[in-house]
Amino acid sequence: MNLMEEVKNLVFPPKCPLCEKILERPGICQSCRSSAPWTEEGAALRQLADNIPCAAPFHYEGPIRAALLRLKFHGCASAAGPLGDALGLCAEEAYGAAFDLVTWAPVSRKRRRRRGYDQARLLAESACRRWKTKPVRLLRKIQDNPAQSSMKDAAARTENVKNVYQAEGAPYGKRILLIDDICTTGSTLSACAQTLLNAGASGIFCAAVALTGINAENQQEYGKE
Ligand SMILES: [Zn+2]
Repeated sequence: MNLMEEVKNLVFPPKCPLCEKILERPGICQSCRSSAPWTEEGAALRQLADNIPCAAPFHYEGPIRAALLRLKFHGCASAAGPLGDALGLCAEEAYGAAFDLVTWAPVSRKRRRRRGYDQARLLAESACRRWKTKPVRLLRKIQDNPAQSSMKDAAARTENVKNVYQAEGAPYGKRILLIDDICTTGSTLSACAQTLLNAGASGIFCAAVALTGINAENQQEYGKE
């Protein structure tokens, strides 16, 4: 830890994102680590449309679900640090050094203003510390579409994110790690991936903090946004 980090830890003591206990250094506390709903070997792979893989360290359950809801809806931005770190480790185990750039699935400008931050970007920034790099913006959400959580099924989710993203920056010829908070049916990640591939990206690898079960009753509440 450098001096800046030590001062920051004094002013804003790091908290476990799962039980919210104050810790000496940022991370997930030992007891939550042992009880967290880890995916198999900490890196389950879900195949999204077009054979794009998505790795995630956790299942969307119990304390992970609560922490992601705090991050998305209750202003708890600090949870992005340790959760993004777990995501980064998982992506590294799943993909090694297979990607050249890291980006994230953005929320709309309107949503970001209301929330004060884009949670997927914070997760990507935290994951990138592992590789001593920073995520680059390659996507813009050009429509403020209804929340994915309000869609009744997978087909509606796919339709809802059509033509919602636009590529920017320089994805051409790049292998890209694409980060989001939660992967449900993967419609958001697939729409983002397709936009990047159409803009010339040569490969897409996805990673999320948590995978949800893919059944109808699990569709509520999990939307991007
Ligand atoms: Zn804890």
